[in-house]
This record gives sequence, structure tokens and C-alpha cells, in this order.
Amino acid sequence: MPLQPTKNIWHNGKLIPWDQANIHVMSHVIHYGSSVFEGIRCYKTGQGAAIFRLQDHMQRMLDSAKIYRMDLGYSLDQMNDAVVETVESNGVAPCYIRPIAFRGYGELGVNPMKNPIEFYIANFPWGKYVSGDRGADICISSWNRMAPNTLPVLAKAGANYMNSQLIHMEAKLNGFDEGVGLDVNGLVSEGSGENLFLVYKGQLLTSDLGSSVLAGITRSSILTLARDLGIPVVEQPIPRELLYIADEVFFTGTAAEVTPIRSIDRITIKDGLAGPVTKQLAAEYFGIVSGQRPDRFNWLTPVKVAVAEPVSA
Ligand code: PMP
Repeated sequence: MPLQPTKNIWHNGKLIPWDQANIHVMSHVIHYGSSVFEGIRCYKTGQGAAIFRLQDHMQRMLDSAKIYRMDLGYSLDQMNDAVVETVESNGVAPCYIRPIAFRGYGELGVNPMKNPIEFYIANFPWGKYVSGDRGADICISSWNRMAPNTLPVLAKAGANYMNSQLIHMEAKLNGFDEGVGLDVNGLVSEGSGENLFLVYKGQLLTSDLGSSVLAGITRSSILTLARDLGIPVVEQPIPRELLYIADEVFFTGTAAEVTPIRSIDRITIKDGLAGPVTKQLAAEYFGIVSGQRPDRFNWLTPVKVAVAEPVSA
């Protein structure tokens, strides 16, 4: 779906018009991928618009910046306020929110430390990511995720998404909805932009943080919900073949939300339909973000924006 411009983008503390949020081609980030960013959803709830897990997203952005020795120059509270200010100024909800900080224009060379940090926040309408209401047909990619101590996967950095692009393009060109990367040991890691869960013999499994996965905020939400519902949860290394014989497999992510998986490498998962655990967790997740179930973990930050009907991709 093409980007739909809104009125303003927040830049280093000020709202500027969307069309003026431009950078020079010689900015460090263009050449060396030096950015950290977030992807956040603002939902339509029965009580108005609300941002999902804003604090946790902005804390992850601070963590990503810390790993790359980037001083963003704003506290967590200031960053949260800036997101709310941006969304309220644009008056667009539901929406997707994209805060991004990068090394800007100054010197050209690998050493980034003299380049200024530029911090932007944009938001725009956005719908479903992995297509359709049917389960996704996915494949294991021939590309692995980053090996430990190469590009740090716990940082949500622009450069990591070159790997995601390889995984996603290959999947699409081969007729799949999405691809899953294995880690350097051949164990299951994650989708190009989603964490992966499976249900096997009554347990909910997801790869541990040592398997080259991003510490997804939706992943953490699903783990919290599952524990709360009394579903046994294990974070552990997952062999590839466990996916094929699992009872249920699903993706999680800000964009993907909770997306059931119908087949992997053209092997149908169980009967190809969303299973009971996936459905139960999805119902909880969508219940909370739509305001139909109580926000018992304090995940929603209300914003003063008139809500529109969600758009579909
Ligand atoms: N893994 C990768 C590589 C991602 O890009 C994303 C999306 N941010 C996720 C997992 C899911 O993370 P989250 O639930 O925080 O959106």
C-alpha cells in the first residue's frame, strides 16, 4: 500500500510539514545504514484512539541507540510525549507510527561519531501486513539471520533489514507470503519482520533471544497473555522440523499482529486452519487493542484523535 502522507512530521523537537522532512544524499545513514527505529500501532478502541505499548517501544529504541552509541538527546518520557504530540497533531487514527533516529550529514566515512543525530517521528494510516484472513503460506529462507556478534539483532537497526529484504524478496518471488530465517546454527529464528510461535503437545514455544530474534513487543505481549491464561510457555532453541509437525504456528508483530500460518514449505500445518491456542491468544490480543477487553496490563496510551475506520492493505 503506498504511503499516505499526513500533515506533520516531528523533527528534533519540532513539528515540520511532511514534505519538508528531507535529508541530504550525503547523510551518513544513506551510505552506511546507521539508523535505529520503531514501528508502533495506534488502534481504534471503543474509548477512542490508543497507542499500543508506547513505553516499551520507545525503551527498545533507546536500547537500540545505546548499542550503537547514539545519544538521542531525549528521555523516555520526552520521546513518549513526542509520539503523542505527532499523532495528535496529525489527527490520523488508526495509524502506524514510525520513530527513526539516524546519523546525519557531516562527514563521510565509516566513523559515525561526528555526524549529528537526526530524530524524526512520522505516522500514517496503515492496514493489515501479511495478506488476507486465511493463514499465511510461508517458507524457510535460504538466507540465514545474522550470526551472533555480527549485526546485533536485539537492536532494531535499519541495517538489519537488508537481511530481512533478502528473506522477504526470496519468499515473494517463490510465491510465498513470507519467509523465515534460520539462525547460524540452523535453528528457527524469525520471519523477515515477525516473531514465530508454535504449539506442540500442549505447549507454546518460541525461539529464545539467543536465536537471532528481535525481542518483539508483540512476542512479549503474547508470552504475557499465554502465561496469564495458564498456557505453558517455553522460550527455547527450535529445530526446523518441529515447525512441520507442530499443531499450530503463528507470526506475531506490530504489523502482522497475530497471523496464523497455514503452510510451511508447502507442508500444511495440521488441517491448515487457525488452531485453538492461536485463536484464543488472538482473541485476547485483539480484544485488548480494540478496547473490548480490559487493558489489564496497562498497554494502551490514549490519544486525543477522532478515529476513522481502519484501512485495509
Ligand atoms: N522481528 C523482526 C525482524 C521485526 O522487524 C519485527 C517488527 N518490529 C518483529 C520481529 C516483531 O516485533 P514487534 O512485535 O515489536 O513489532
